[in-house]
Amino acid sequence: MTISTFKKHFKAELSDLYTESESAFLVSILVHKIVGFNSFEQRRFSEQELLTDDEQKLCSLVSELKTGRPYQQILGETEFYGMTFLVDEHVLIPRPETEELLEIAIREIQKLENNGSGLKILDIGTGSGVIPLVLKKHFPNAEISSIDFSEKALETAQRNAAYHQLDIQLIHADYLNIQLTGEYDVIISNPPYIGIEEEIEIEDSVKGFEPTMALFSPTSDALIFYRKIAEDSREHLKNNGLLFLEINQKLGPETLDLYNFFSNAQLLKDLSENDRFIYGRK
Ligand code: GLN
Repeated sequence: MTISTFKKHFKAELSDLYTESESAFLVSILVHKIVGFNSFEQRRFSEQELLTDDEQKLCSLVSELKTGRPYQQILGETEFYGMTFLVDEHVLIPRPETEELLEIAIREIQKLENNGSGLKILDIGTGSGVIPLVLKKHFPNAEISSIDFSEKALETAQRNAAYHQLDIQLIHADYLNIQLTGEYDVIISNPPYIGIEEEIEIEDSVKGFEPTMALFSPTSDALIFYRKIAEDSREHLKNNGLLFLEINQKLGPETLDLYNFFSNAQLLKDLSENDRFIYGRK
């Protein structure tokens, strides 16, 4: 089979799951991964026959994709904020909105006098570790701690930290049931925020393959994490400290309301114009 025939085969096999443009993007990534050709080379040598071994590998990837498993899990990695992160079934696949959260956080932390140096940063719900690791990359002198309930997720975060040679503190804890100690300059989080009643709206490819605990609030209260973060911000966020949260777009005003003791907490929209973030300076 040639590269171009494989691409046609790929699009036809996955037309129920992916749009034309998603397929084009995905097949290019897969061919790059297996054959090693970049997208120009894939076009330049589109009539080149695939090696039998590569063809078999590519066809087995197609079969796996047909089960609905997200391609990031199949590849075992994803690109996020210009960095490569290992992902597996134990962590949420990092979303583009979280890149926006980090863009806001990096911009605001950079405005601080010491430009992040010596800052104590707390991340709640680390998953694959994208938030603390992107921050550590930008602010190498910050002291970053990250909490997660899932030991498996922490193992993945640890592998990502090692891969990028970045030093962050990973803490295994049930955030909702711990007493924080110490004071932080920055608190940041993208906690599970999908309410139980919204479960029905979530795609099968997400529900079936990503960890439930990373997606859904553990109780009927979709704001449970935000309430605890608000309590902790009162006592464990320094005055003038910064708070950055990703939130459920349907609960913007209610979530913001929990932070009315901040001098200027505000709701920010994502690129799709949904209420998606809270940014506050205490
Ligand atoms: N902080 C991680 C991320 O944004 C994990 C989030 C989560 O599991 N809810 O990808």
